[in-house]
Amino acid sequence: MFPAFHHRYVSLPSRMRAECEPTPVTAPRLLAFNHALAEELGLDLDAFDGKRVAEALSGNAVPESAQPVAAAYAGHQFGNFVPQLGDGRALLLGELKHRNGGLYEVQLKGAGRTPFSRGGDGRAPLGPVLREYLVSEAMHALGVPTTRALAAVSTGEMVLRQLPEPGAVLTRVASSHLRVGTFQYFSVRSDREALELLVDLAIERHYPNLLDDLQEASWSEKALALLEAVVARQARLVAQWKGLGFIHGVMNTDNCAISGETIDYGPCAFMDEFHPRTVFSSIDEGGRYAWINQPPIAQWNLARFGETLLSLIDEDQQKAIELATKPIVAFSDIYQREWTTVLRAKLGLSASSEIADGDDLALGEALLDAMDKAGADFTLTFRHLAGAISPEGGSALENNLENELRAGFSDGTGVNGQGEGAKALEAWLPRWRQRLAREVLTESEIRRRMEATNPLVIPRNHLVEKVIRAAADDDDFTPFERLLEAVTQPFSMPDDPGFLEPPRPAERVLRTFCGT
Ligand code: AMP
Ligand code: MG
Ligand code: MG
Repeated sequence: MFPAFHHRYVSLPSRMRAECEPTPVTAPRLLAFNHALAEELGLDLDAFDGKRVAEALSGNAVPESAQPVAAAYAGHQFGNFVPQLGDGRALLLGELKHRNGGLYEVQLKGAGRTPFSRGGDGRAPLGPVLREYLVSEAMHALGVPTTRALAAVSTGEMVLRQLPEPGAVLTRVASSHLRVGTFQYFSVRSDREALELLVDLAIERHYPNLLDDLQEASWSEKALALLEAVVARQARLVAQWKGLGFIHGVMNTDNCAISGETIDYGPCAFMDEFHPRTVFSSIDEGGRYAWINQPPIAQWNLARFGETLLSLIDEDQQKAIELATKPIVAFSDIYQREWTTVLRAKLGLSASSEIADGDDLALGEALLDAMDKAGADFTLTFRHLAGAISPEGGSALENNLENELRAGFSDGTGVNGQGEGAKALEAWLPRWRQRLAREVLTESEIRRRMEATNPLVIPRNHLVEKVIRAAADDDDFTPFERLLEAVTQPFSMPDDPGFLEPPRPAERVLRTFCGT
C-alpha cells in the first residue's frame, strides 16, 4: 500500500541522524486517516486495510522500504540554548513523492525512545496527538503553511503524564523537518561540512527557485540567499498566524522550520476574546510567546539562524556579521508589509497606489484596539464585519450580522453596552466605510471576498478539549470526526452551529500544556 520511500535524509552522514527502530506497541488501532493526503502522496488506497495501516504507522511493522532515523538538532528553549535536543520521540521513515513533484518527509511521532530521548519515554498521549491532527489540518485548510497529519493510531498502552493517559502515534508529514535548531546543532560543533550539506538540502527542497542563480555561487552567496528566503517565509507565516488569532505557544528555535511551515502544535491555541498579550501555554510564564510577540520572536529566531551561517558567509567574523545582519533587519519591513496585506484582506480592502500602506495598517490596528477594549471574539468579529459594509445594510441577514457585530462589542460596562470598546467600534465603522468607498469592487463582491478570507470555524480550544475528553475518557471518536470535518471547511457553515460559538464562561480553557 505504501510506495517506496526515498532516502534523502538517511543519506546524510551518520553524525547528523541516528538509525533507530520504533518500539512495538501492544494493540495498535487506526483512529484517523487522511485519505486525501494519502492519495496525494501516492499511497495505494485500493489496497487500504485499516489493520495493516495501524501496524505500519504505530511502528510495529514499518513499510519495507522505510529506514527509520531520528534527526539531530539543538535549540534555544525560552531563550536558553540546549546544544543537544534531537528527535526524542519521532522517527523519520523517509520521504514520499507528492503529486506536486516535491518530496515530503513522513515521520512517526510517539514511536518510542531514540538516542535523543534523554529522560523521556518516547511516547505521545492521545490528547496532544488529536490536537495536532485537528489544528494542523485546520491550518492547511486556512491556507497557512504547515506540517500535515496523515494518521493517528492508538497504541493500546497507557502513558504516564500528570495522570495516566492512552498513548498514540501521529504520522506527521512535512516538506522537511529542518529547523533553525538543526543548523545550531552543527554550528555549535563547528561542523562546516554538515552545515554545507544542510544549506544544500534546504535550498534544493524549499527554495528551488534560487537554484538557477546559485549554480556557480560561493557558500557565502548560498548561505545569504537561504537566510533571506527563510526570513521572507517566516515573516509571512507569523503575519498569517496573527491574522487568525493563532498563538503558536512554543516558538523555540527547534520549532522554527526552515521551510516556513508551522511545526509543533504542543500548547498552541486560537484566541476567542481578543487581547494582544494573550498566552495559553502553562510553561510560558513571562508571556514570551504571546500573540503580539510572535513577530519579534520570529526575528530573534532568525538571528540565531543567521549566526549558524556566519562561518560560511565570511572568514572575517565582523564582515560576516555585517552581511548576515542585513536580512535580519529587513525582517521588520517584510513583516510589516505582510501584516498589512493580511489586515487589508480581512477588512475587504485591496492595495492601491493611491492609498498609503500605513493608513490601511492603522485602520486595521484601530479595529484590533477596539476589539481589545471590548474583549470581542477574534473570529466572529471579522466574520460579522462583512454584514456591516453599508450603513443601511441590505438583506435581513446582513442587518442581523451588523447587530451581532455590535453585540460582540457590548461589554456591559456602560449604558446599553456603550463601554470603551463599543464606542471605539462606532468611531471606527465610518472610517472603514469611507475607505471601502474607494474600492473598485461592488459591495457584494467585497463581502464574498471577506467571507473567503475570514473563517467561520476554527478549532477553538474548548471544542478541542471536549473532543479529546470524549476520545480519551469514553473512547468516543465521533465528536473528533465531526470537529475535524468542520475545521477543514473553515469558510462554510458547519452542520453543528455550536462550532461557531465562543466558549461559555464555564467552558473557557485558559491554559494549554505541551503534553510531552
Ligand atoms: P517540544 O517541546 O515538543 O518541541 O520537544 C522538545 C524536545 O523534547 C525534543 O527534543 C523532543 O524530541 C523531546 N521530547 C518531547 N517529549 C518527549 C518524550 N515523551 N520522550 C522523549 N523526548 C521527548
Ligand atoms: Mg518540537
Ligand atoms: Mg512538542
